Amino acid sequence: MASLRKQEEDNDELNCLFVHGPIIVGAGPSGLAVAACLQEHAVPSLILERSDCIASLWQQRTYDRLKLHLPKQFCQLPLLNFPDYFPKYPTKRQFISYMESYAKHFSIDPKFRQPVLRAEFDPLTGLWTVQTQDFHYFSRWLIVATGENAEPVIPEIPGIDRFRGPVLHTSVYKSGSEFQKQRVLVVGCGNSGMEVSLDLCRHNANPHMVVRNSVHILPREMFGVSTFSVAMLLIKWLPLRLVDKFLLLVANFTLGNTDKLGLRRPKTGPIELKNATGKTPVLDVGALSQIKAGKIKVVEGVKEITRNGAKFVDGQEREFDSIILATGYKSNVPSWLKGTDFFTQDGMPKPPFPNGWKGENGLYAVGFTRRGLLGTSSDARNIATDIADQWRIINKDIRKKEQL
Ligand SMILES: Cc1cc2nc3c(=O)[nH]c(=O)nc-3n(C[C@H](O)[C@H](O)[C@H](O)COP(=O)(O)OP(=O)(O)OC[C@H]3O[C@@H](n4cnc5c(N)ncnc54)[C@H](O)[C@@H]3O)c2cc1C
Repeated sequence: MASLRKQEEDNDELNCLFVHGPIIVGAGPSGLAVAACLQEHAVPSLILERSDCIASLWQQRTYDRLKLHLPKQFCQLPLLNFPDYFPKYPTKRQFISYMESYAKHFSIDPKFRQPVLRAEFDPLTGLWTVQTQDFHYFSRWLIVATGENAEPVIPEIPGIDRFRGPVLHTSVYKSGSEFQKQRVLVVGCGNSGMEVSLDLCRHNANPHMVVRNSVHILPREMFGVSTFSVAMLLIKWLPLRLVDKFLLLVANFTLGNTDKLGLRRPKTGPIELKNATGKTPVLDVGALSQIKAGKIKVVEGVKEITRNGAKFVDGQEREFDSIILATGYKSNVPSWLKGTDFFTQDGMPKPPFPNGWKGENGLYAVGFTRRGLLGTSSDARNIATDIADQWRIINKDIRKKEQL
């Protein structure tokens, strides 16, 4: 950051850098949000980012037709709102341009191409050592901002290696234009699976969507108001189960019975399920009508992939030209953060929301709430306030010593 005064003490031989403020790992929305909030308290920070740009998930690993799933007021970062002229659901391009303006506005200047390979707390020095290929960084504070979606989940499907066509994860899918007239097997029926299937339809491809588990599909809007806003409002007044009942009643009324289309609803309600497991309900942006029209075919679980297609658990066999894995993402924290039991094996903070932002010995986590960008904002503000309190005390002590 520009405000990071020349506070790094270089040691060229060892490539060791002492960072006076916190080290933030990851320059996605969470990393930027916490850096901005720290700056508001006049605390400098250093962001280490593995890729060569900010918001790399959005810039490099999302499809062209992506729009924010939630209305913009739930997705803006602290201290700088979206421009007024942005639509209710900003496009991916608009969101990226907002992120770029955000970084510029707060003079946030991450160090790119710095994948963090290992980070560990040293109780002797009281510092975190953060190791990249070329450097050892040291700081009192480590903020994990590598996201819930750091690595694609690639499931093991029997026979997938012998498939003759391309197999790709949604993280590298850009547009259905590359799949025109193709028979495409889309594995997974979350928001990405649904939207990719819809995009394929719009480009004259023939998608078959694998629906192995039950799934909640809700309309993106109810009576012109976003379903998310309705849920947020009702939750303030009503018990969660009642809110779920209401959402399902309206969903059944507007979308019809999705069970009949092969999309079985889970027994637990959508919000209760989200809170318990993190599984997000699908917000329909048009895929359901294509399913009803028979343009997106719903198929049951895959038994095995063959050279030319797939065999399904119901005994059917079909030929496909391509396979797209809409199988989600996972956190990568356990692969590089060592010597702490603050995170689970899945790389999520152990304390549940809203307490998952603060660990021990100056360790923090931003953006691991399973509540999207809304959760990021709340974490970023909490972390910045907490570190700023410590920063003031430390600087006061330093000034006292200097006066002696
Ligand atoms: C298709 C899609 C649509 C979404 N739509 C919405 C939406 O509408 N609303 C919403 O609120 N949320 C949405 N999300 C959730 C989304 O993850 C968040 O909005 C947001 O990107 C999270 O920001 P983040 O900074 O926590 O994580 P990320 O955006 O994933 O950023 C993490 C950064 O850390 C870097 N990194 C990872 N590991 C390392 C390492 N070891 N060393 C250095 N750097 C590292 C990554 O390169 C990345 O730049 C969507 C997610 C996806 C995949």
